[in-house]
Amino acid sequence: MLCEMCGKESDFTKTIFVEGTKLTVCKECSRFGESPDGKGGGAKRGTAAAPSRTMVTERLEARERRMRTRSIYSDEETTDLIPEYSKVIREARAAREWKQEDLAAKLNEKASVIAKLENGTMRPNDALLKKLEHELGIKLTEKVSVVKPEGGRSAGKALTLGDMIKKK
Ligand SMILES: [Zn+2]
Repeated sequence: MLCEMCGKESDFTKTIFVEGTKLTVCKECSRFGESPDGKGGGAKRGTAAAPSRTMVTERLEARERRMRTRSIYSDEETTDLIPEYSKVIREARAAREWKQEDLAAKLNEKASVIAKLENGTMRPNDALLKKLEHELGIKLTEKVSVVKPEGGRSAGKALTLGDMIKKK
């Protein structure tokens, strides 16, 4: 069973109420809240080491951040439009000696759409992307690895980038 407050795996879990929220927590975290029967927590004993509201709030906020991060980075890899798509489209079209109008006609689009794609003011949607790749025989997407917040590999990359900036 996972503690809903600190996220640790725990054999011992207890249901408590923290700031009106029902949580199933581990032994360590259970002292932050009140049990439904009103006995727990030690908060009523006054002089006992009752956790401050700030501490509880901080824990809850940390938990929320953790859950949000997890949902965003659920996929390890994602496909994304390559940054230099404008150049790739322009060069592939030029290599075929097509005018923007020619490509537009093949794709059943307006020439202005091709112009916008080639000067980077418009990103192709998925359908247009497929048509462009097919008609020009190019690849406009790349697999992007999503760096997991807990992953150790990201530290090396960040350091390299930092070094490069410093050297400039
Ligand atoms: Zn816990």
